[in-house]
Amino acid sequence: MNQKSNMRRSIPSVLFLSEKISIFFHRVLKLRFPWEREFSLRDLAIAFFALILFALFSLVPVSLRIRNLLYGAALVICLIPVVLQAFRLIRKGKTPVEEITVFIAALFAVFLHQLVLAITVVCCSVFIWQIEAYTLLHVESESNTFELLDEKSRNRIRSSDLEKSREHRRIAFSSFAYFVLFVLLFLVMLILALIHISSAAEWIQRAMIVMVFASPAAILFCSLLTHYGAMFSSAKAGAVFRNDQIPEDFAECKIFAFSKTGTVTDGNYQITEIVPVGIGEDELLRIAAVAECRSNHPIAAAIKKAAGLKEGVVPSGVLDVTEIPGKGVSTFFSGRQIYVGNASLLEDHDIWYRVPSKSGTAIHVAVDSTYRGYLLISDAVRDHAFEALEELRAHGAERLVMLTGDVPSVSRVIASSLNFDMVKSQLTSEEKASAINFLRSTEGDRARVAAVGDGKHDAAMFQSSDVSVSFDQKPDDEVDLRIVSDDILCLPLVYHICRDTQRTLKISALGLAAVKLLFCILGVSKVLSPVVLVILQFAIEAGAVVFALTCLTLERRGLQG
Ligand code: ADP
Ligand code: MG
Repeated sequence: MNQKSNMRRSIPSVLFLSEKISIFFHRVLKLRFPWEREFSLRDLAIAFFALILFALFSLVPVSLRIRNLLYGAALVICLIPVVLQAFRLIRKGKTPVEEITVFIAALFAVFLHQLVLAITVVCCSVFIWQIEAYTLLHVESESNTFELLDEKSRNRIRSSDLEKSREHRRIAFSSFAYFVLFVLLFLVMLILALIHISSAAEWIQRAMIVMVFASPAAILFCSLLTHYGAMFSSAKAGAVFRNDQIPEDFAECKIFAFSKTGTVTDGNYQITEIVPVGIGEDELLRIAAVAECRSNHPIAAAIKKAAGLKEGVVPSGVLDVTEIPGKGVSTFFSGRQIYVGNASLLEDHDIWYRVPSKSGTAIHVAVDSTYRGYLLISDAVRDHAFEALEELRAHGAERLVMLTGDVPSVSRVIASSLNFDMVKSQLTSEEKASAINFLRSTEGDRARVAAVGDGKHDAAMFQSSDVSVSFDQKPDDEVDLRIVSDDILCLPLVYHICRDTQRTLKISALGLAAVKLLFCILGVSKVLSPVVLVILQFAIEAGAVVFALTCLTLERRGLQG
């Protein structure tokens, strides 16, 4: 009897709690388990009860708020019998030392958990404000309807409903794997309890300690902070993500498909030669400019500028303008059908054209099926384009490919000067999309492809890619990553930020699992007391948050490197 009471006293508070819960079941709910006389299956049942609560807390893909509520509910349920027991003891004239200790430990646990959650929410909200502020700085948006971040992401922050565990695939998986590991340990303890029925209570105590450490909350906090931190650092550098899933996807991209015009070249086209056929030079330029009046393609802008036609002005007589992606435009003007575009556009309409003698991008003009000549244009490679591509490689990009609608003679020269691994020319939008699918299939299905363009006629290419990156500040289509900075070096910097963030996350997930496992073992072998374990568990969470915040300096480190 004496020995038994000694053993009871040494029982860690976790089992102590379970005992109190069982008293609660017996006395308040008048529940009695029929098998409990045989051995401590009563405790076993309570252990399962705790398991379900922790499982709900850890696994159910709900918002952080609800998770927190579940966690609080689990602790409060555990505390009720403790308080009742304490009152009973006080009435008997005894001091409930153990109960008070458990009570304080639990309150402390709740307080620390709330503190870590609050820090996480505040940090993420600050990040979002900063993301918006920095983006506004870059974009100089004149309208009030500022919609760079998608509404879902913004609302989630505002309602502090931050978590999106389903979408943070990798972290959801590792926290699940991590939870499963602890559940397995828990089950091993329970099986041992069944095998050694005489010391079942001892094993169940140990199983409960394992469950205390099974919560992957710290990993989730870390995941949130690193994702929003990455978005914040990127905004500072001049890039805006559509939502908080993109940084993770972007970090996984190993293949980059670039379009040429306005992406690796500056898109400031200069007309180098005008070759009219049967009309004057000015007449040819004017017809081309009128046909381009509605296009926002860099080529259209250059032609309109040369002809003195203002951007946005539609000359009277223009009835219908159709843009043909990767080819040019077809315009109905004063009763005449005008085609302005590359050779492939004229071939589509069986119109004869002259092959230019000089190299360059030729924009052919045809009026009512009659060839009227061509404009030879060229643009320069963007500043720092070479360095940007080299940096992408240094940070982990494996294949850099150029997919362009321009002619081979022009695109090959640019591709070789920029050291691209592969170049495909004269592609239509759809052909660019299938080229991306082909690239993915050659690298295996898990390969991720980022498509980088200027946002003009890139919709099909963007759609077939895993992450779409646009250099257009206000693209027509929804893009995953918008580079609002004029500097192409922003792209490798953001890639570096995303990859480093994922690395930070991996390290913290592994580190957390290792440290928690260590403390769990120390707890199970009774080296550490339950109160110390509770404090340690939450110290780990706070540590994880601080570690996640180190990703904020990435942008500065990237710029220095
Ligand atoms: P890239 O693939 O290099 O980004 P695009 O797909 O935007 O280039 O355009 C490919 C080609 O299609 C251009 O080189 C040009 O010959 C033709 N083109 C596209 N849009 C126009 C336009 N508005 N006017 C004339 N030609 C155009
Ligand atoms: Mg383009």
